[in-house]
Formats: sequence, structure tokens, C-alpha cells
Amino acid sequence: MKYFIRTYGCQMNERDSEAIGAALEEAGFTRGSEEDCDLLLFNTCSVREAAERKAKGKIGYIRKLKLKKPSLIIGVTGCMAQRLGEELLRELPHLDFVLGTGQMQRLVPLVQELMKERRRCSETELSAEVLESMGGHDQSPSWHGQIAITRGCNRFCSYCIVPYVRGREISRTKESILTEARALTERGVREILLLGQNVAAYGLNGDVRPPAPDHSPFAELLEELNEIPGLLRIRFTSPYVSYFNPRLISAMKNCEKVCRNVHLPLQSGSARILKAMNRQYTAQSYREKVAEIREAIPGITFSTDVIVGVPGEEDSDFALTRELMNEVGFEQAYIFKYSPRPGARSALLEDSVPEEVNEERNQILLDDLKERIGARLSGLVGSTQEVLLEGVSARNPGRWSGRTSTNFVVHFEPDETCSPGTLRQVKISRSGAVSLFGSLLP
Ligand code: SF4
Repeated sequence: MKYFIRTYGCQMNERDSEAIGAALEEAGFTRGSEEDCDLLLFNTCSVREAAERKAKGKIGYIRKLKLKKPSLIIGVTGCMAQRLGEELLRELPHLDFVLGTGQMQRLVPLVQELMKERRRCSETELSAEVLESMGGHDQSPSWHGQIAITRGCNRFCSYCIVPYVRGREISRTKESILTEARALTERGVREILLLGQNVAAYGLNGDVRPPAPDHSPFAELLEELNEIPGLLRIRFTSPYVSYFNPRLISAMKNCEKVCRNVHLPLQSGSARILKAMNRQYTAQSYREKVAEIREAIPGITFSTDVIVGVPGEEDSDFALTRELMNEVGFEQAYIFKYSPRPGARSALLEDSVPEEVNEERNQILLDDLKERIGARLSGLVGSTQEVLLEGVSARNPGRWSGRTSTNFVVHFEPDETCSPGTLRQVKISRSGAVSLFGSLLP
């Protein structure tokens, strides 16, 4: 029996698809293509309406495959499955099952049941069991691995539906994460990305109060991962700023394998808008946190997420966001134009910012970012950077690329000793719009 998984959305979904694939392969399935598989899965995203539309469009299109091959089992998993449940079965008559984010441990047994006895079903109860059952990994050799350490979120930001579709925040045990990290490293993984909606809340048992300054189970986890022989780099995404306490900053500083880059979602630079978003920090406390991290770890880089055009955002609010972004000097930013999500609290508000204003604000921040990244990259020309080699560059097969600990992409001519997942020194000779170019040093 062959399976194929089409994945939409975030890294958490990519990670889940890897785990689904590993669980299916353990049960005897082999990976096929969309055209020749017996089990076709859509691991979906709900973060924007467009993401749901895209997935539904593709699932609708796949109906003709089912007409040709009636034995084909088609299932939907992920956030859209969790949000819409049975509604998807009604809307898409050729769909066999819908499995929510809290029922992933049911996937293999359910598919086996459906192979014996065909029926249509939707299972969307949010269960805590799922977290420990999702440890499997794609077995193809790779220098990079991802580990989900928490699932769900307790923050309830007004624009976000994650707490409703991924459930309340739960953390995996430290032992299971360390076992998974060691197994990945033995398989050749050299960089691990830790995933969670708010990784810095790891191990806090869902307590929404930021921890005491000297308490951070996430910091303890980083310290233990840092000791794994053979592992070269550790990255994580995303921490909520209020949980980034002195204990975590000190662990980052002392763990040489933890990369010198933090993705710290800002969302807005206006206190009024942050309050409306139910973000539990102010622009000032965000500023101070960045300064505290920079002072402890010189040279660290920052990336962020920002939403423009949330209901009620005035020109003055946007100006504060722009000012804060330029002041912090983010090396990367993901800028989103607000769109209401059914189910999120802000969807109840009138969408007051006209689309053209939203577009203009988005463009202003993108232009600022482009200018800033250009200046930052050109400042690195002449320096020598330690780069973790990733492999052949996607844009130029004659070149390889890799990444610095600070998350800058570097392209270079390979030599015969190049191998993905090794650290090499690269002398930077020029900068492009979003990346660096250089020569490998012996
Ligand atoms: S912290 Fe806020 S934006 Fe992030 S997942 Fe939780 S509710 Fe959503």
C-alpha cells in the first residue's frame, strides 16, 4: 500500500507530516506519488482563510482520482480538519475521513479499519495522548531534524485560532525529547529545530503566568540538548517575549550549540493594538527584552512576525510599529496583512482598515526591511563566517549554500570535501539582496 501526504502551512505541520509518514511506514506502507497512491492525506492549515481555500480547492480537484480508483482512501488532518470536522465530509463527498489535531495517534489504526470496512468518519476530540505518539521521523538521511516539544497554546491572542484548533498547551517529557534528539543525531542529523507555539513555556504545565526570573524548564532542556555528542546546532521557534527570562538568556549564552538568532514575534509596536490583540507585553517591555538579550549575547540577530491592518489600527499605531521595527533592526521579518479568521475573537470586530491602506503599510515595512537587510549583509563583506553546509544551492546547481548561526544564508563554490551537515569557515566576498557569497577556507 502506498501513501502520499500533501502538507500545507507551518513547520509544525511539516513536522507532523514527517511523523505521519514514519508511522505509516512502520505499519508497512511505502511512499508513493499523488497519482499512484492508495492513501492520500491532506495535512492542512487554518491560519488564514486563503490556506483553507487552497486546500479545499485541491481536495475538490482530486475527486477525479477517486472516480478512476474507487479504493483510494482520502483523509484530511491538521488544523482545518480540527476546525471544520464533519462539515468537510458534507462539503466534500469523496472524502473518507477527517482526523483532528488531537487524534493523530488514531491515524494508522483508523486507516487499517477503513481498509477492511469502508465508512466515512470524523474524529476531532482534542486528546493529550497525541504528543508522545508523534515522535517518528522521516527516515531519509538529512543533516536537519525537527522536534515538536509542545503542542497547543494557552495565550488566546485575539486574532489567532491556534488554541481552538490545536488545543491547550501541553509539553512532552524531557526524556522523550532527549531520546528523540539522540536518535536523530545518531542518524546523522547535525541541527535540530525545536518547535512549539510558545517554546519558552515548555514544561510550565500550561501556567499562563510567565515564570520567575530564575525558572525555565526550556532553558534546562537546551542545556541537556547542548551536551549531545555529534549535535552541532540547536534552533527553536517561537518564544513569546514575556517568557524569555534571565534564566533562558543565560542558558542561551552558555550553550555554544544554541544558534545566535531568535525569532521573537512582535505583532505590533502600538501598546493600544497589542492590548487589543491580547498580547501580554508592551512595546517598551519588548524593547527592553531585546536590549537585555543583546547585552548578554553580542552579535545575536532577531527576526519577528508583524501583523498590519488589524481592526482599529490607526496611522499613528502603524507609525509606532514602523519605528520599533527600525529601532530593533530585525534581520528578518514576516509581515502579514490582517485577515479575519472565523473562530478567532478579532473576527467579531469590523474590519476597519481598507485593503489599499493595509497593502501600503505592508509595503512600507517590506521596503524598510529590504534596506535594512541589504545594509546588514554588506556590513559582513570581508568577514569570515562559520557556516553549516546544507547542500547544493536551490538557485544555482554549481554552488552550495549553508547558514551562519545568526541565520544568514551563504553561497559558495564547493570543493570535493564538502558534505551537508559539516561546519566550514567561509570568507565573505560580496552580499546580495538576501544572502551572502564567499569562498570556502581550507
Ligand atoms: S501565542 Fe498567540 S499567536 Fe501564538 S499560537 Fe498562541 S494564541 Fe496564537
